[in-house]
Amino acid sequence: MARVNEPFEGVIMYRRDYRERDLLVKILTDKRGPLMFFVRGAKRRGFRMAADILPFTYGTYVGLLADDGLSYIVSAQETHQMRGIGKDLNRNAYATYLLELVDQAFEEGVAMGGWFQQVMAALKLIDAGRDPQVIVNVMEVQLLNRFGVAPIWTRCVVCGRSDLPLDYSETQGGMLCINHFNEDEYRLHLSPKVTAYLRLFATLNLAQVDRVNVALATKRQLKRALDKIYDDQVGLRLKSKRFIHEMDSWTSRLQNSRQTSVSDDEKSP
Ligand SMILES: [Zn+2]
Repeated sequence: MARVNEPFEGVIMYRRDYRERDLLVKILTDKRGPLMFFVRGAKRRGFRMAADILPFTYGTYVGLLADDGLSYIVSAQETHQMRGIGKDLNRNAYATYLLELVDQAFEEGVAMGGWFQQVMAALKLIDAGRDPQVIVNVMEVQLLNRFGVAPIWTRCVVCGRSDLPLDYSETQGGMLCINHFNEDEYRLHLSPKVTAYLRLFATLNLAQVDRVNVALATKRQLKRALDKIYDDQVGLRLKSKRFIHEMDSWTSRLQNSRQTSVSDDEKSP
């Protein structure tokens, strides 16, 4: 097959040192999914594509998309940096986790169809300051299918009813209606609001989303449910996810210590 350079859309996922002056850059591409690129001289001072290959930069690149071995970029046509993600620790943590999840969910070098646009829409919403947890929860629900877990969100898996309160059962692989809650004593005990969101998320096109406004208590339950499903049913343990957990525990410790100092001067540390 002829080796020709071609334009493609992509977003920089991560980069890794390679030899003294070069970098390996993983790019999520529209044409071949996640793909590793060799970028010669990328660590030299004044490298002309330095800004184009920073993490969370996206745009149109030109290069060789190799069937086997490393791919190359020869130029960047028009790129933009997601500065909103770059400057905010929380957005950064969720966007990093999302890309790590996507890297696991899709085979290197294989086109990912409409998924590319959906991932880009998710990143752009996070970049624009929409609630990153909720955006990532939407993607987590949808990506379950890629990991071979295809929960039935819309109706009871036993009787098919969708008009009664539902709850999620991991062992049953989907929702149970209130008449069949006894099928699983370990069902997740989700509120009706949370099950409604999970149903919505399963088919939500993020390109059409503008506002995101989910109450804190609902967000906590969504997170608990999806973390549990990913732990138990998918079995993924990602470093970026652990970081989000750590970040959450710092935040709650910080909030607790603030509350103590406001309510109880004598005993505060
Ligand atoms: Zn039922």
